[in-house]
Amino acid sequence: MKELILLKCGEIALKGLNRNFFEDTLMKNCRRRLESLGKFKIYKAQSTIYVEPADERIDLDEAVERLDKVFGVAALCRAAIVKKDFEDIKEKAVVYLAPVLEDARTFKVEAKRSDKTFPMKSPEICMELGGVILDHFPHLKVDVHHPDVTVYVEIRDFAAYIHTDQHPGAGGIPIGTSGSAALLISGGIDSPVAGYMMSKRGLKLVAVHFVSPPYTSEHALEKVRTLCKKMAPWCGRMKFVVVPFTEIQEMIREKCPEEYFTIIMRRYMMKIAERIAKDCDCGALITGESVGQVASQTLSAIACTDVACQMPVLRPLIGMDKDEIVTISRKIDTFETSILPYEDCCTVFTPKHPKTKPKLSLVLKAEEAMDEEAVIHKAVEGIATEIIG
Ligand code: ATP
Ligand code: MG
Repeated sequence: MKELILLKCGEIALKGLNRNFFEDTLMKNCRRRLESLGKFKIYKAQSTIYVEPADERIDLDEAVERLDKVFGVAALCRAAIVKKDFEDIKEKAVVYLAPVLEDARTFKVEAKRSDKTFPMKSPEICMELGGVILDHFPHLKVDVHHPDVTVYVEIRDFAAYIHTDQHPGAGGIPIGTSGSAALLISGGIDSPVAGYMMSKRGLKLVAVHFVSPPYTSEHALEKVRTLCKKMAPWCGRMKFVVVPFTEIQEMIREKCPEEYFTIIMRRYMMKIAERIAKDCDCGALITGESVGQVASQTLSAIACTDVACQMPVLRPLIGMDKDEIVTISRKIDTFETSILPYEDCCTVFTPKHPKTKPKLSLVLKAEEAMDEEAVIHKAVEGIATEIIG
């Protein structure tokens, strides 16, 4: 039997004049996610997106699994495509729904007729089809209030569709509709989650990672690459930018007071990330910071890093507890990779007594010893970029 996937758009249905842009972006994103699975016809009508495999051998379970992770989809389901002819609807419904109906005790039918030229009205479709189902599955009873299974029949423009309940999609809004942002990604638990959360709000990511070889290893870099790959089913294709940071860190260690090491290093990260972000048409930076989590995430420390750049810095985890963050990281399957014990450039040369309440004036004074423009320029010159996902 011919099947397709129906996607219900979420919030995007509310976006007035932007609706077309949102729906078209969503369709483009779906197309890209399914590209490697086979050919699909993807089209829209009445705030539903239709995802129709061009070939019946295509693995629709896998297609649903991929579409479950596409932001902008509120709900989705598989459905049988049938002719707009009641005989065909009856015949196909009992075959298509047999596996679920055999396991159910109660059911009801809901019909929607957006094609008003169809000769039967919705209540009539429900009654007639309900009767046919009862004839075929005599163990079933009708329960219109709390049925185990609801059978939906939708008579639409191009065909009729039969399906059971939809399941919730990834929510959010389609990636790309809010522009792009540069995610400062470490190998930790937090930053991949921060990236996921901002992708959900329609941002396309450029992942920026700082490395300090030989203090950080090739394994540590590979771990971050793996994190990006694991994020890609949710966050889409992303640029992955690796920034050499060793010289800057060595220079900070040499020239600045030890207790300011972390804060100055973080300010340099923001400054360099901002340059890269501008080059990649990003409108913001994203970090995985959360108030009070570590010494560099006190309010005074955040205040000092915040003024290191002009772009808005988005910190979606700012008010979250670690266990809340871990829950999301397990859901998006980055957790097990994040906890692998590789070093991050933030953990090399960490001072014994970092300033938890750094004063900006003193930080700026300490930074005067650095040749800022030269070191930033050199780091940006040394970046390596690849595409992931
Ligand atoms: P995470 O779990 O994301 O590593 P964290 O709790 O370990 O966060 P920090 O190490 O202080 O906190 O890092 C705070 C934020 O700084 C990270 O969430 C990330 O956005 C950014 N960051 C840290 N290290 C790097 C790095 N090597 N490259 C790019 N960004 C980094
Ligand atoms: Mg970290």
